Amino acid sequence: MLFILCFFFLHWFLSLFFHSFFLHRYASHQMYTTTKRWERVFYFMTFFTQGSSYLVPRAYAVMHRMHHKYSDTEKDPHSPHFFKDIWRMMWHTYKLFEEFHSGKKLPDPQFTKEYIPSWDRLDKIGNHIITRVLFALGYTMLYIIFAPNLWWFLLLPVHFFMGPIQGAIVNWFGHKLGYANYSNGDHSRNTTPWGFIMMGELFQNNHHYKKIDPNFAKKWYEFDSTYIIMTALQYYRIIKLKPVIA
Ligand SMILES: [Zn+2]
Ligand SMILES: [Zn+2]
Repeated sequence: MLFILCFFFLHWFLSLFFHSFFLHRYASHQMYTTTKRWERVFYFMTFFTQGSSYLVPRAYAVMHRMHHKYSDTEKDPHSPHFFKDIWRMMWHTYKLFEEFHSGKKLPDPQFTKEYIPSWDRLDKIGNHIITRVLFALGYTMLYIIFAPNLWWFLLLPVHFFMGPIQGAIVNWFGHKLGYANYSNGDHSRNTTPWGFIMMGELFQNNHHYKKIDPNFAKKWYEFDSTYIIMTALQYYRIIKLKPVIA
């Protein structure tokens, strides 16, 4: 039981960290600079920790930049205010994601003007159905070996769809529930205490106020753990945070 709990939380927090630190704060917003070698390490770790639900950075960044530009309007790729429930919003986001990734839909050039990291070979492997199935089988094997009873298997879908689930929680609750520190002209909210569990990602209201600011926590009672880790990585000269102009 202890092994399964550890595996679940390790998978949750590691994939969430790279989701926030690499896909969101680097690929989408370029909040810091780093060397090509470290970029590849973070890229690989994003693939490895998301596993069966790997989100291709290029498509992710384009859609996320659209989200900021059109926040909570009809052009927003995933505003909760245009969907009946979280599942419909997830499905719509997935379809759009696939269209951008496959090249069926071309992004408006304004969303690709800023640098987006890409690693075609890894994307091809990571997005392949065989890779996704192999990861899913790996998670299932661990449950077969270590889970004390079948009830624990109910957690498996969370492993299978980890990346999109985390994205859906942020996009749904972060634009629906909680309080606002700033009036951004949209429905972005800070949903404390879930902000802590989501490693800072649920301070959507603070983040939409100043999207290039790497610290999503603005009040003394708000805590952005991804940012804390980023300051440590800066201390060791692995990344360099860009200055935030007031
Ligand atoms: Zn948002
Ligand atoms: Zn953002």
